[in-house]
Parts: sequence; structure tokens; C-alpha cells
Amino acid sequence: MSPAESSIENLAEHARETHVVVIGGGISGLVAALECAKVGMRVTLLEASEELGGAIRSRTLDGVEIPVGADGYATAGGHVRALVDELDLTDLVRPEAPLEAWVAGVPGGPAPLPAETVLGIPANPWDPSVRRIIGWRGVWRAYLDRLRPPLTIGQQNNLDKLVRRRMGDLVVDRLVAPLTVGRHGLLPDDVDVEIAAPGLGTALTRTGSLGGGVAQLRGSRPGGPTIETLEGGLVPLVQALARRLGDYGADVRTGSRVEAIAPGWRVLLEDEELDAEIVVVAASGAEAHRLLAPHVDVVAPEAPATWDVVSLVVDGQPPARAVYAVPGSGPVSTVSVVSARWPWLAARLGAGRAVIRATLVSAPADDGAAIAEAADAASLALGIESLAVRDARIDRLPTAPPRSARGQLDAAARVRAAVVGRTGLGVVGAWVSGSGLAQVIPDAVDEAERLRRSALFG
Ligand SMILES: Cc1cc2nc3c(=O)[nH]c(=O)nc-3n(C[C@H](O)[C@H](O)[C@H](O)COP(=O)(O)OP(=O)(O)OC[C@H]3O[C@@H](n4cnc5c(N)ncnc54)[C@H](O)[C@@H]3O)c2cc1C
Repeated sequence: MSPAESSIENLAEHARETHVVVIGGGISGLVAALECAKVGMRVTLLEASEELGGAIRSRTLDGVEIPVGADGYATAGGHVRALVDELDLTDLVRPEAPLEAWVAGVPGGPAPLPAETVLGIPANPWDPSVRRIIGWRGVWRAYLDRLRPPLTIGQQNNLDKLVRRRMGDLVVDRLVAPLTVGRHGLLPDDVDVEIAAPGLGTALTRTGSLGGGVAQLRGSRPGGPTIETLEGGLVPLVQALARRLGDYGADVRTGSRVEAIAPGWRVLLEDEELDAEIVVVAASGAEAHRLLAPHVDVVAPEAPATWDVVSLVVDGQPPARAVYAVPGSGPVSTVSVVSARWPWLAARLGAGRAVIRATLVSAPADDGAAIAEAADAASLALGIESLAVRDARIDRLPTAPPRSARGQLDAAARVRAAVVGRTGLGVVGAWVSGSGLAQVIPDAVDEAERLRRSALFG
């Protein structure tokens, strides 16, 4: 054997002797596990619940399997698609049929969101669709934006302050807040403008007004679908990851909750302890904080945050809308007709049935009461007198802020810097990368690469 061949053999041997334990079988844990298994490392993945996927899950309602958690991914960056291709799922890719965005909780009942907006900020306050939502008083106040001296984005990255100052309260409360809360669970005050709408600040400075900046940004955006999914939703992605891990000989266990991590590293389950050279914490926010707190100073206990999502199978064909509610105007933040968004799902349901999803702002603890509240709010939002509900369920899923949450990037960088200081410890997941598959997946790949390198090359 040549010296080069023998050093490769040593490296492979070293990889085989490296035991990686991944805690959490959501998408971040599965991806990190695959990256380590690929180079020959011995991987054990431990998932607390009885199924893999975390926030990616489907349930059978009225005889049809329906996505009840994450159901699509952003094509931006190409990261999710690269994984889909790597797992030989390309043939299953399906584009989104975008829903018409509406706003509920405004005088006169639900109304279409103006077409020319970025984050709900209108390009032209005089557009009749803007007036329908904010009234004449709101329009005149928004028009002052054209008369004010421009700001640079460096001076204001808080979305609430920027829009309130330039266009007034009604634009923030009735156009911007419904979208930021409905799409990201954030009030405008918590949104970083430059991350949520890259280029808006520069466009504002260039055009001299916020409305002008919105118009310019919209004009410069490339067309084409920005969201896609797979036939059957995202569960096939989870299943393919599990299969691929099996092919690499990884030990993937469900019903295995990790109680604690001891230095060294040793992973403690209720009735077993596992030694590992590498531990990757891939649990959702509050659990990850609990597991990391003894080892990493910057991590403090975090209260669990959930999204309470009600899925309804109803008779008929509701309008193809996603309705975003003005915060404080009712029990839901969003109501969307999921089956109109995903033609593959509509085909499986057949004519005469539809799936509606309603996200409750603060759901009653009782499931039946929560479902009834969501169904009433959905019929109001969609303008249907009485919804004939055939089947329904509620899922309470852990959630994390997106990258565009103010301070998220800094907080994540602090956690990562502290974790890097503990050899063999890694952390992945939405609470560090920012929510959304397009963030979670590349971040998990990068973190696994860092751990692989440091274990194999020092
Ligand atoms: C309702 C909803 C809809 C969404 N829709 C979309 C969408 O359409 N597109 C998109 O891109 N993103 C969407 N997201 C966000 C996206 O789903 C998440 O960012 C991503 O799935 C998070 O993956 P994760 O691995 O970080 O965490 P999770 O999916 O939460 O997985 C963490 C896993 O760790 C396990 N675990 C926790 N504690 C332990 C322990 N002690 N021991 C062992 N295992 C443990 C949990 O059981 C869980 O399975 C949505 C999120 C929600 C909640």
C-alpha cells in the first residue's frame, strides 16, 4: 500500500471509530446525521417521539393523508432542492399554486391585499385596494412618505419604526402586521427590515421614499415560483432521509428521549448511556436549551413556543385565499386553503372537498374548543356562511423565530461561538439557523462539516 493509500485508510478507520450521537429527529437532526454517516462515521440518531420529522408531519383526515406542519420550502439558495435531488426525489417536486392574499379584521370585512406591496408596505397609497383597507385618513397619512426626506436603512432597521414614521399607524397595523404575524409569528417591531426585505433600504434612499423603494424592489424581482413541495408533502423527504441513513448503517431510534448530556461526551437516556466523540443537539428550542445549559454559558432556559395549527377538511371549494388577520382582531392569525395551494392534494381529495388550515393566536387548552373557534374564524375570514366540517384536528408544534427576527443572527452567533469552544459538541436546528427549511438545511450541513473536520483532521 502506498503512503497516500495508507493515510486514506487511516482516515477511513478513524471515521469508523468516531461515534456521533444526534439528539432530535427533525429535519436538522436527519440532515446532520446524514452528513456524518456519509463519511463513514458511526451514527446514532435519537428521537424522543414515536416518529421522525418534527415539524414536518402528516396526518390522515377524512381518509386522506394531509400535511399538518411544514408543507413547502423556499427555492431561494437552492439548498433544499439540492437535498431533494441528492435523495433521488426530483420527480416528486411540485410547484406551489400561490393563493391570493387577503386581510381580515378591517372595517367592511376581509379585503384583498394590494398587489404591489413588499411585507405589506404599499408602493402606491392611492391604489383603491390600499384605500379599502386603511381608509382615506390612512391614505393621506401614507402619502406623507413622498414628502419626507429619505432615511438610510443604516438609521432604521426596525420595520415598525420605519413604516410607522414614514407611512403612519394604519399601514403598519392593517397591512404590515397581519403579514409579519401570519407568516412569521413576529410583530413588525421584531422584524429586521434588511433581512426581511433585502435591498429595500437602498431602494428607499435611491428613490427618495418608502413607496418608491417598494415599487423599485418589486420591479427588480425575478419571476417564477419561489415555493415548492413534493407530491405527498414533505414527509417523503423525511422518509428518504431515514432510508438513506439506513443504507449507511446508521442506528435511527424513535421513542428515545435524551434526558441529559454529560461531559466527555456521554448521552443519557432513561435506561441507557451512550458514549460519543461527537454530540449534535438537534432538539427544538426549549429542549436544546435545557440540554446545552450545563455546558454552554450563553444558553439560558427558554419557554417553549408553539404554533397551534387547526386542519379542517370541509365540503365544497372555498376561495383560493390565504387570509391574514389584523393582530388583536380575532382568534386566528392566518387562514389558508391548503388544498388550493397544492394541486397534488386537491387531486387526492377529489372534487367537493377542501383542506383549510387556521393558525390560532392563543389556542384554548381543550382541543374541541380550539377546533370550533378556528372553524368559526375560518368561515368569517373566507366569507362562507357556515363551513361543513367533515374532519378536523389540532397540532401544537414547537416553533422558532425566522432569521429576520431582530437580534436572531447575533444570538445564534453567540451560541455557536460558545459551542465551538467545546470540542465534539455541535448544535443545529431552527432556533439557531432561523426557522424554515431553506435556512435549517444548509446550516445543518455546515455544522456537520465543521464537526467532521475537527474530529478527523483536528
Ligand atoms: C406549523 C408549522 C408550519 C411550518 N411551515 C413551514 C413551511 O411550510 N416551510 C418551511 O420551510 N418551514 C416551515 N416551518 C418551519 C420548519 O418546519 C422548521 O423550521 C423546521 O422543520 C425545524 O426543524 P428542526 O429540526 O430544527 O426542529 P423540529 O422539527 O422541531 O425537530 C426537533 C426534534 O427533536 C425532538 N426532540 C426534542 N427534544 C428531544 C430530546 N430530549 N431527545 C430526543 N429528541 C428530542 C423532537 O421530538 C423533534 O422531533 C413550519 C413550522 C411550523 C411549526
